Amino acid sequence: MNKNAELIKSVIADVPDFPVKGILFRDITPLLADNRLYRLASEMMAEPFRDRPIDYVACVESRGFIFGGLIAEHLGAGFIPIRKKGKLPRETVSEDYGLEYGKDTIEVHTDAFSKGKHVLIVDDLLATGGTVQAAAKLVERAGGVVSGMTFLIELSELNGKELISEYNYASVIKY
Ligand code: AMP
Repeated sequence: MNKNAELIKSVIADVPDFPVKGILFRDITPLLADNRLYRLASEMMAEPFRDRPIDYVACVESRGFIFGGLIAEHLGAGFIPIRKKGKLPRETVSEDYGLEYGKDTIEVHTDAFSKGKHVLIVDDLLATGGTVQAAAKLVERAGGVVSGMTFLIELSELNGKELISEYNYASVIKY
């Protein structure tokens, strides 16, 4: 990891047993409170995709939204929200998935992407990979092409990269 990644890592708080016993929660809120580090983190998440033709940044609710807006701005791309079940007002496609803690369903508007558009998926953290795999399926079912995935944090021991081995992905810091 380079010096900037070390700096970002140094302000992420480790919270044992949240939200359930046995999970070490990586709390990014101290990072977000530091304007310089928040911008730096977003730039580092966008950087590997700067020279690719990214039309849209598709972001997973809710912490993906925090970085997705800035990344869309860095890349000159549109912002597409991938939301939890029941939040989007028009026709959606939906996917169920398992989490490191629990289960959930995410949705995207059926007409979110014009066919063949290039999409970068954004989330704060890659754990088992279930969330982002479901997000990729949604993008594809809605007609988009997944050009890549970017995360601030990768929890290497959970091996999420196996689940997303068919996609290009980048992460800024690893544990
Ligand atoms: P997964 O689907 O297992 O890759 O989990 C990724 C999603 O769960 C991300 O949206 C994270 O925000 C959240 N998440 C999973 N594990 C953690 C953790 N240890 N600390 C913080 N967030 C987590």
